[in-house]
Amino acid sequence: MEKKTLNKSCCGSKIETTRLVEKNSLCPVCGENGTFVKNITVKHMVLDELTEQVSNNDYFLCMNEECDVTYYNTESNTKFNKQQVKVPLWFKKDANPKYACYCSKVTEGQVIDAVLKDGATDMKDVLKITGAMSKSQCQKKNPLGKCCHPMIQAAIDKALSMK
Ligand SMILES: [Zn+2]
Repeated sequence: MEKKTLNKSCCGSKIETTRLVEKNSLCPVCGENGTFVKNITVKHMVLDELTEQVSNNDYFLCMNEECDVTYYNTESNTKFNKQQVKVPLWFKKDANPKYACYCSKVTEGQVIDAVLKDGATDMKDVLKITGAMSKSQCQKKNPLGKCCHPMIQAAIDKALSMK
């Protein structure tokens, strides 16, 4: 009996720490698990007048399409909604325009047109026709701080399936 108690308290602190980290990644409004985004990306994505409100921590991004919250950091208790970022987030409801490449401001519709109307069949054609990824600044311009490549590919796949 005594042993059991000891074991429990020994693992207990570890479990608490894990929970704490997990809890930080949950959206304070909808409770869904967010995606990690670097601080530099958040500072570039929020409206200029809000830049000072961004703490020096890294943030999480709520990917729930129904939720108004975008970047949040529970440690510094800061969060921003979708009206407080410079560009529409493609995965949020009613995103307009829906960008496939944020760096060069190419929309999903432009990529689809390149495939359906201009006969592009692969990434190389699409980049040439649309000018996507010609100004690679993903860390500052893409809401996830990651390369736009997978989103462009997804738009190409979508267009090819419509053919
Ligand atoms: Zn949320």
